[in-house]
Amino acid sequence: ADERKNMKEFVPVSFESFVDRNILKRVNHCVSRPIISPPTVEVDVLERTSDDGNWHFRLTGRKTRCINLASYNYLGFAENEGPCVDATAHALQLYGAGVCSTRHELGNYRIHEELERTTARFLGVDDAITFGMGFCTNSMNIPVLVGGKGCLILSDEKNHASIVLGARLSGSVIKVFKHNDIDDLEEKLREAIINGRPKTHRAWRKILIIVEGIYSMEGSIVKLLDVIRLKKKYGAYLYLDEAHSIGALGETGRGVTEYWGVDPGDVDIMMGTFTKSFGAAGGYIAGSKELINHLRAYSHSTLYACSMSAPVAQQTISSMKIIMGEDGTDKGKLRIARLVTNTRYFRQRLREMGFIVCGDDDSPVVPLLVCVPAKILALVEDLFERNIACAPAVFPATPLTEGRIRMCISASHTRQMLDKVLDSISEVGDRMQLKYSL
Ligand code: PMP
Repeated sequence: ADERKNMKEFVPVSFESFVDRNILKRVNHCVSRPIISPPTVEVDVLERTSDDGNWHFRLTGRKTRCINLASYNYLGFAENEGPCVDATAHALQLYGAGVCSTRHELGNYRIHEELERTTARFLGVDDAITFGMGFCTNSMNIPVLVGGKGCLILSDEKNHASIVLGARLSGSVIKVFKHNDIDDLEEKLREAIINGRPKTHRAWRKILIIVEGIYSMEGSIVKLLDVIRLKKKYGAYLYLDEAHSIGALGETGRGVTEYWGVDPGDVDIMMGTFTKSFGAAGGYIAGSKELINHLRAYSHSTLYACSMSAPVAQQTISSMKIIMGEDGTDKGKLRIARLVTNTRYFRQRLREMGFIVCGDDDSPVVPLLVCVPAKILALVEDLFERNIACAPAVFPATPLTEGRIRMCISASHTRQMLDKVLDSISEVGDRMQLKYSL
């Protein structure tokens, strides 16, 4: 009964803002379905223009190409030709597309080990383990790291669904702290230490704080220095999901630890995905040898899931090496610099126009608050008509009244493309009265 009570404490944030779930159900019922289930974009093929070297995509059934702000292609490596493609195609010829086995059976290729060594080197930690899917990296491994009696998870209210699932599966007591709110996190930690475990008043066996580098719906950057200060003060462990920040933050793309000048060793468990900045698929956990050996032995993802496709591993290795400059060029450096310039320019222009833009200046995730649910779809569709693709972020991914469109900036966007997007948004924004201050 205690366990069930604890589970109840952890409800997704969008639900939390509603006092009565029945009211929520009714509200849900009233808004038209397309707003709840945003239209999916069918992507035919990634295309690359011959003149500017930047990619667009063609939508199924449409003749025109769209400027893509809907994907997380931060460094532009999700291209169909370019520096990684030859090696990836070669890996396909060498190994085939599928491994058809787990790491513990016959699915441990040399390329998997190379990817893990490269990832650990890139992050500046002892070791790393990789998995075929980013979502499962969280949901299947959090229960292997923490769980059972006496474990407490302190989770940011905006954490991704894969973290929420992993935390629930772990069977730990879960407390949610306000988004990026250091005072609330400290209050929850103090409460946990002073009051001990409910009923027994014994100390917690393990306290795990879980945060993200960049929050994908908010565009906010974690206040990592403060979180590390608190985890040390209260003897907790720290799990950091860098799905959106690895490659996209820091002078050399090392993520949010580099961005804040933090020693990676201060983060106990570094998690990230290869689906964004590396233009590939899968995820990693990195940290001490002891941590990684534990996961190699006990992770459900290693024991029972097929290992990563070899061409995908190769794509990740190639893009990571370019970021590190190990291809002997400064292409990686240039991509990182271009992402920063594009991000700052785009955010600043939107703000100057009078839009409400969420998140931190250096975050390439740019959510533009629309609030009125009916306007979100209209805005996205209007932009589609102008060959601009961006994603609607609506309930339940956001609270019902905080719907937004989310745009992701890429190093492969040109200034010309960004200007076209900005001009279009400005025009539609005027018509829909989305500008709040001038
Ligand atoms: N963590 C975070 C913070 C995410 O945003 C996502 C998905 N975008 C994931 C994990 C899951 O990763 P993947 O899409 O690579 O499975």
